[in-house]
Amino acid sequence: MQSIETRASPFRPQSCPFTIDENTVTVAGGTQMGAVYEELAKINQTVVGGASKTVAVGGYLTGGGHSILAPRYGLGVDQVLEMEVVTPMGDVVVANECQNQDLFWAMRGGGGSTFGVMTSVTMLTYPSPSMLRVCLYIASPEAGKRWFWDMLGYVLSQFRYLDRNGVSGYSTVQSNMSADVNGTMFNADVWDGSFVLPDTEDPAKMSAIWEPILGHVRKAWPEAIIIPALNITAFRTYLDYFQDAHDEGIFSGLDQYAGSRLLDASSLAAADPSELGRAFKALSSPSGYGTAFLVTGTGTRNAKPRGGGNAVCPAFRKSTVYAKALVKVNDAMQPLKKLSPGMGAYVNEDNPGKPDWQNEFWGEHYDRLVQIKRAVDPEDVFWCHPCVGNEHWRETGSRLCRVEHSSEETSQHGGMGWYFAGL
Ligand SMILES: Cc1cc2nc3c(=O)[nH]c(=O)nc-3n(C[C@H](O)[C@H](O)[C@H](O)COP(=O)(O)OP(=O)(O)OC[C@H]3O[C@@H](n4cnc5c(N)ncnc54)[C@H](O)[C@@H]3O)c2cc1C
Repeated sequence: MQSIETRASPFRPQSCPFTIDENTVTVAGGTQMGAVYEELAKINQTVVGGASKTVAVGGYLTGGGHSILAPRYGLGVDQVLEMEVVTPMGDVVVANECQNQDLFWAMRGGGGSTFGVMTSVTMLTYPSPSMLRVCLYIASPEAGKRWFWDMLGYVLSQFRYLDRNGVSGYSTVQSNMSADVNGTMFNADVWDGSFVLPDTEDPAKMSAIWEPILGHVRKAWPEAIIIPALNITAFRTYLDYFQDAHDEGIFSGLDQYAGSRLLDASSLAAADPSELGRAFKALSSPSGYGTAFLVTGTGTRNAKPRGGGNAVCPAFRKSTVYAKALVKVNDAMQPLKKLSPGMGAYVNEDNPGKPDWQNEFWGEHYDRLVQIKRAVDPEDVFWCHPCVGNEHWRETGSRLCRVEHSSEETSQHGGMGWYFAGL
């Protein structure tokens, strides 16, 4: 299921009495993001999409979809105008803001493999922006120094300022790693990042945004190694940027699980930035690393998804930074969780052993999602974990066994009060 149909004329969602006068694209449910970017580049457009060529629209959009362009336009799923869906009962339906609204709401962020198979999706496209990218690298010449984590906390606390200035990007932190700095090997703690400013090719604009931050780092932590001073590249189109910067899949196929956390402004404004730095220290190790991504930001907080909303974790609508770890994740996430009460996590980049996953991935949307799941899939044709409404079945060894409802059920989501039957 791979096809791409671009459209410059107004789009009328099926059964709607209006047209949407924007550029749109309709792609089949298995289309990979790299192909969408390439096809749209031919007409100087792009979409809000992920960083990998081979991630497909099916899982990406049904989970939510963060993007380097999301701080500007909202999440990938906020761009969706219509989906064609094969329901668990075998019907082919079109879901949009005018018909099958519940399904439309749930399929946009409620998770893949749960409410139906999305066979095609129509979404907004945007003029391809030029992209200015800066690559930054800050290291301690010796691992385990407290100042490094204080410094990191300060840099991360400035992500709100970067977001306000239109900067988005990716950064990772790794502790006690072997680092080559100008030909000399260090056992270092390292933060490195790649940040972009769309719609400009003037490096001075990027320097002006970063200089106050780097200036403070130089002054407050003179031991810090900052490399290079400011390495800025201008890309004429979004595709040029993506071809250079795309994620080549080195993050897939690892023998590690991810853990994720969405951080709002108050988590970043922790009274003591070093607390923030220490929370990231807990995410990183010589074999794993933590990430702090600026891939939600202002555009995601202000997004106006069609039909008045969608099912992504409500914490996305408050978040500035998306943090992730690839280590012993659930323990490692605790300090960040403490710093961000009431926020949540991202189902597409997390692990199946996450405690309280219903609340973490969907928050206050969970109960409505379960109601929709029961309505569209009364026979549980679709089952996966951790997926909405999967509490009626549980894996035991290699079997999937029905779990029957007990009269003592007390938990909000049915997780505690169920017992196995029919083994
Ligand atoms: C290298 C890499 C880079 C990534 N970068 C980003 C990023 O920048 N932003 C981001 O948000 N995420 C990113 N991710 C996470 C990504 O969004 C998820 O892994 C996503 O689930 C992949 O979707 P898929 O369709 O390619 O994969 P699949 O494994 O095929 O699908 C994932 C889930 O969705 C279901 N599904 C797939 N297609 C459909 C469909 N048409 N209808 C209904 N259900 C469907 C599948 O059954 C499965 O349960 C990245 C992942 C990797 C490995």
